[in-house]
Amino acid sequence: MSSRSGSTSGGSTGGGSSAGGGAAVPLALLLRREVASERTASERPELHSGLFSQAKKGEDFTFLKLECERVPGVPSSSFSAFGLFDGHNGNGAAIYTKENLLNNILNAVPADLNREDWLAALPRALVAAFVKTDKDFQTKARSSGTTVTFVIIDGLFITVASVGDSRCVLQAEGSIYHLSSDHRFDASKEEVDRVTKCGGDVGRLNVVGGAEIGPLRCWPGGLCLSRSIGDQDVGEFIVPVPLVKQVKLSTAGGRLIIASDGVWDALSPEVAFNCSRELPPVPAAEQIVKTAVQSKGLRDDTTCIVVDIIAEKTNPSMPLPRRQPGIGVFKNMFGKKKSSDSSSHSHADREYMDPDILEEIFEDGCALLSRRLDSEYPVRNMFKLFICAVCQIELKPNQGISVHEDSSEPGSLRRWDGPFLCQSCQEKKEAMEGKRRSRGSSRNSGSSE
Ligand SMILES: [Zn+2]
Repeated sequence: MSSRSGSTSGGSTGGGSSAGGGAAVPLALLLRREVASERTASERPELHSGLFSQAKKGEDFTFLKLECERVPGVPSSSFSAFGLFDGHNGNGAAIYTKENLLNNILNAVPADLNREDWLAALPRALVAAFVKTDKDFQTKARSSGTTVTFVIIDGLFITVASVGDSRCVLQAEGSIYHLSSDHRFDASKEEVDRVTKCGGDVGRLNVVGGAEIGPLRCWPGGLCLSRSIGDQDVGEFIVPVPLVKQVKLSTAGGRLIIASDGVWDALSPEVAFNCSRELPPVPAAEQIVKTAVQSKGLRDDTTCIVVDIIAEKTNPSMPLPRRQPGIGVFKNMFGKKKSSDSSSHSHADREYMDPDILEEIFEDGCALLSRRLDSEYPVRNMFKLFICAVCQIELKPNQGISVHEDSSEPGSLRRWDGPFLCQSCQEKKEAMEGKRRSRGSSRNSGSSE
């Protein structure tokens, strides 16, 4: 069974339902747009996307929405969202996440933020939304889990949050950038140590005779992933806290490939980009899936989303976008690999010109909520200070528990240090950190090595 679809967004003119040719734009809207955006409309790129999937188990799900508005009725607040959910042990977690994640993200961002603040608030909102989605799903089912690769594109800004081993890779300016995690135990000693410390058993499958085979897995259950949404039956230490990366494209634009491990087990990112070069997104996605299946056979659900981001060249008479202190801080370079044909591409003049290069803005993959929720953004207004940072319920002033509270170090607590969690989310946090055994799970711990 295979499926395909494609769609196109017209960038700055496609935001509103009434965007007819030559229709007058109300002044109030222009003013709001200026305040909300601070950026020129010419910076809005065109997006073209395509999807292709070959199913084996029917546990891959996708989300493609080119026109979302974070402020309803304000086209300048539009953004696009793409998600890939590769389920395991059933499709419940994948379907639940597909249906609820975006709402949970938007609910975790205060209303009325300007565009800079919205972009700066996104990494924290993504963490809160992943954890809330996981927590809410636990009230529905114990088994089934899903990888999540969720991509938000706002103008030239790309923000990717991911758990599990589906991947999002970007090709821009001749280079390939990895924008997602690889939360397989085999890929991260740090994650093996974290899960072991929290009471999980990580080891390879033992066959008769003592030989160990296959990838590193968490036992019992044999999950290869260290992070996911769902999987409550495996243990709370399989956390839903995503790696978040945020970049800003240059006006040269770029192409994103978001694909499940069925693709990446067969193809390197270089091969995936090369085999689909110059094809529009729908045939490109089809070509990538077919190349993967030809190489390894259809052993797993194999799904691919291709998104082309085509930016217009910025009008040189326009003032340069002003860098804001909150974001635009160069955190670090990551996963950057030059592909062979990029050597002639020179940035020698960059210091003297528009800084029109791909900029890496944010990257954090830490599993600790105390770090991931602790941000100066968003600055909530005074009336909404007491809100659970994960589930967004209102708290009475004496109900909130500081996200910095550490029950293993009583006395270190400063209860007035926000952000705050409700009692239920605090229990979830402690369970994720191995400080509280999951309900109904009394597995003994110990090394299998
Ligand atoms: Zn809560």
